[in-house]
Amino acid sequence: MQNILLVNIGTKKQNVADFLSFSLPGILKASCRVVEENIVLEPYYSSDRRQYHSTEILKQLLPLGSEAKDHVLGIMDEDIYIPILTFVFGEAQLGGRCALISGHRLHQEFYGLPEDESLYLHRCEKEAVHELGHTLGLKHCDNFECVMRYANSVADIDIKRNVFCPSCSQVLGIPSLW
Ligand SMILES: [Zn+2]
Ligand SMILES: [Zn+2]
Repeated sequence: MQNILLVNIGTKKQNVADFLSFSLPGILKASCRVVEENIVLEPYYSSDRRQYHSTEILKQLLPLGSEAKDHVLGIMDEDIYIPILTFVFGEAQLGGRCALISGHRLHQEFYGLPEDESLYLHRCEKEAVHELGHTLGLKHCDNFECVMRYANSVADIDIKRNVFCPSCSQVLGIPSLW
């Protein structure tokens, strides 16, 4: 991966993409660019679940980026799902180019707590690094502080660090920031 295209989808505010464009280059050793694309979400909305189908939206990202070295991260704030799960924080093509994150359940407000913008942005950052790690071929890691550890709650995310553990860094061939 040499370039990461950050694509705002849906009603997402620009601030997540802007934050990630500063933080991801140091962690992933890639340049970052925020791009505007008009991805229509309505066809992927389930009125029963009141959520959007993550895998279908991920497919819409495939044509973006001109070259194989361009990885694409979609950023949205609507709630997303895959059929076998209640929700997902994000989804990625393992060893592919495209990944998607949703900030919907990363807001403190979602849990009835006062909003904390800094905590929200740092959770988005960990999810972004995690999903992009999958596009680089990394699977889930057992180290509970590693960004590649599987998380299904914000508590799990808050325990993790925003970087790859030494062993995941070694797999990627990048210097460990641990
Ligand atoms: Zn994962
Ligand atoms: Zn790891």
